Amino acid sequence: MDIPFNKPYVGDAEREAVAKAVQQDVLHGDGPITERVQERLQDWLDVEWALLTTSCTHALEMAMMTLDVGPGDEVIMPSFNFVSSANAVVLQGATPVFAEIRPDTLNVDPAAVEEKITDDTVAIVPIHYGGVACDMEALLALGEQYDVTIVEDAAQGVDAYWKDQPLGTIGDIGCYSFHDTKNVTSGEGGAFLTDDDAIAKRAEIIREKGTNRSAFYRGEVDKYSWVDEGSSYIPSDLLVALLEAQLDRRDEIKEKRKQVWTTYRKALRPLADEGLIELQTIPDDADPNYHLFYLRTNTPEERDELLTALKEEGIQATFHYVPLHSSPYGRETLGCTAELPVTQHCSETLIRLPLYPQLQGEARKIAEAVLSTLQRKFSKASFNIEQK
Ligand SMILES: *Cc1c(COP(=O)(O)O)cnc(C)c1O
Repeated sequence: MDIPFNKPYVGDAEREAVAKAVQQDVLHGDGPITERVQERLQDWLDVEWALLTTSCTHALEMAMMTLDVGPGDEVIMPSFNFVSSANAVVLQGATPVFAEIRPDTLNVDPAAVEEKITDDTVAIVPIHYGGVACDMEALLALGEQYDVTIVEDAAQGVDAYWKDQPLGTIGDIGCYSFHDTKNVTSGEGGAFLTDDDAIAKRAEIIREKGTNRSAFYRGEVDKYSWVDEGSSYIPSDLLVALLEAQLDRRDEIKEKRKQVWTTYRKALRPLADEGLIELQTIPDDADPNYHLFYLRTNTPEERDELLTALKEEGIQATFHYVPLHSSPYGRETLGCTAELPVTQHCSETLIRLPLYPQLQGEARKIAEAVLSTLQRKFSKASFNIEQK
C-alpha cells in the first residue's frame, strides 16, 4: 500500500472555475467572484458578515486587531493547538494563556478556562478540534459572566455544527481555513465571520490596508484613504473561484469523508472495546464534518511503535500538535511553566489516519490493514497491555 496522509480533492469543476476566472479582467481580490462567494457564505451560514481572507491565520490576526488586544492583555486558548491563534496574540504584544483540554474530544475544558480568567483576560479562543464542536454553552456563559470575547478558531470546522448552528458563527467572531489540508479548500484561504457590525466595519478596514476602500466601493464615502492600522488580507479572485467550486461540492465531500471515517471506526471499535485504544467522542450536540480520524493509544511508546508499523505498511499516519506551552517558543520565549498533564498525554498518544474523499473506495482495505497492524503490535510483549 502507498497511502499518503493528505491529498487535496479537486477535479474538473475546480479546474474549469479557475480557467474561467483567469479570463476575467479582474485578478485582484474583492472582485465579482469574491463579492458573490461572500454573499453565498453569509446566506448559507446565516451570518451578517463573511469576509474572505488569505488564511485562517490572518483571520485570527484580524480578530486580535479588531479587539484592540495589546500589551498587558491575556487571551486564553488550549495548548493542544495549532500555532496561529497564539501567534496572533503574540504579534499584538499580548500574552497567550494556555488551558487544559478534555480527554474525550481534545477540546478546551471550560472549567480549566475559567480558572485562568483574570482581570487582564480579553478573549477566549477555543478550537473545534477535528470539526467536533466545543462545549459552546459553557464557553458562551463564561464570555457573558466575565465580559470576554469568544473568538472561535473554526479552521477545521467548515460544514460542522453545534446544535444546528454552523461552527464559527456561535461566538463573537469565527475564523475558517481553506488550506489544502482542510475539508473545503482554495489551496490557501480563510474567512472572518461575525454578526457584530462594529467588529465587521473595523475588520474590513484592517483587511484593506487600513483604508475605508470597502465603504467607498459601497458608495458610503466619496473617496477612500488611510483611516486605521491594517494590512492586506485579501485573497485573489482566482483563489475564490476555486473555493466556490469546492463549496458547490461540500455535500459530496462530507459524505465521502464520512464513509471513510465510519469504516475506520467500525473496524477499530473492537480494539477500543478491549481498552487497547481510545476513539474520538462525538458529543450529542456536535454534528461533525469528519475532518479527521484519530485514535489514542494507552502509552506514548505504543503510539510511536504503531506509527512506525503503519509506515512500514505504506500508511502515512501522523501525530498531532506539540503542545504550545511545551514548544521551544512557549518554554524559552514566553516562559510557560504550566503543567497540563491531559494535553501532554493526549498529544503523546495520538495517531491520525489518512482521511480524504478519494479514499472512499479503499477505506475498507486500509481499515483492515490498520486493524491487523494494530493487532499484531498489541500481541507483542513490548506492549504494556497488562497495565490497563
Ligand atoms: C489549519 C489551522 C489553522 C491555520 O489555517 P491557515 O488557513 O493555514 O492559516 C489555524 N488553526 C487551526 C486549528 C488549524 O487547524
